[in-house]
Amino acid sequence: MDSMSLSQINFLSDRRKFNLGNLVRIHGEVHSVTDRKVAARSTNFSCDTCGLITEIQHSFPYDEEYVIPRSCLKRKGGCGTSWNSSNYTVRDDMSALFDLHIVTLKDDKFRFRLYLHGQIEPPLKGEAIVFECHPEPIKHPKISEFSEWRGASDNYEILV
Ligand SMILES: [Zn+2]
Repeated sequence: MDSMSLSQINFLSDRRKFNLGNLVRIHGEVHSVTDRKVAARSTNFSCDTCGLITEIQHSFPYDEEYVIPRSCLKRKGGCGTSWNSSNYTVRDDMSALFDLHIVTLKDDKFRFRLYLHGQIEPPLKGEAIVFECHPEPIKHPKISEFSEWRGASDNYEILV
């Protein structure tokens, strides 16, 4: 698969040819890398009254705020107790956690946020990398065109 530059991704979106959900190979220069974060694909809550475990799934990009259930749901076999901060427990030991670095690629006009997950050393600032992901646009609040994109991958290669 040929790889695209950040500008080419934007060109495709401008021409309405871009099909969201396609696997795309992208190359670009690393502008910044975050420290290692721990992110969750899902979080488990246990009810302190009856012990029922409720699992909440998170969606990409995984690092945003998620909704805590309001009560221990009877329809899922729970006791119906309303939950406030003191009567349920977040079960990190049962939650689907993974390592995450957010790698920002940048060229003259466009930015791309790569959510790099798993046990992998991130690239360094200034390195050129190539990776595959399903990119999605992030609308810039002040510009109607897409100027920023994001996508997730568990691998990348350094270009030499
Ligand atoms: Zn309960």
